[in-house]
Amino acid sequence: MDAAHINGDLTRVLHTDAEIQARLAELAAQIDADYEGKDLLLVGVLNGALMVMADLSRHLTCHVRMDWMAISSYGSGAQSSGVVRILKDLSTNLEGRHVLVVEDIIDTGLTLAYLIQNLRSREPASLEIMTMFRKPDALQSAVEAKYIGFDLPNEFVVGYGLDYAGRYRNLRDVGTLEPHIYS
Ligand code: 5GP
Repeated sequence: MDAAHINGDLTRVLHTDAEIQARLAELAAQIDADYEGKDLLLVGVLNGALMVMADLSRHLTCHVRMDWMAISSYGSGAQSSGVVRILKDLSTNLEGRHVLVVEDIIDTGLTLAYLIQNLRSREPASLEIMTMFRKPDALQSAVEAKYIGFDLPNEFVVGYGLDYAGRYRNLRDVGTLEPHIYS
């Protein structure tokens, strides 16, 4: 679905499907060049990274492997605690591999900081992060993404894999929700 199908739910569209795909093509060209001649493993974090993994991997012209992790944050509600439980681990041994973590969005970066620490202990040859979206608080985080799609304002967004109460993940565009949706 795109924004037109949920007329009235979005306050505004921040990035359209076309903008997202154009940016992904640019990032994929960089990633292709940076990993030339190397065996690259993309690690996606379920569920949010589903769309970016599917699209980024298809923009790439090099061979890649893909693997997935599912994690859940301890702590209440929308506030990220940074304490993470692994619900589904990778099936790939990371030792000696070039690993690129593919993320939907970095807000506080607490979740990712835990994850990176965990993945680094598995001794990959290299470990970098690609994120489709980044919020301002991420700049204070200990982890830095090498590849960034778009910087967003400090607002709750939905679409392109990001949900509110389980909905809007299949929205092609990314935008902010009308207040009446929350109430
Ligand atoms: P962090 O630990 O960086 O604060 O939180 C990252 C996770 O919080 C993301 O992977 C995502 O699941 C969720 N998140 C952060 N900001 C947003 C947002 O604006 N919209 C949605 N739907 N999820 C978000």
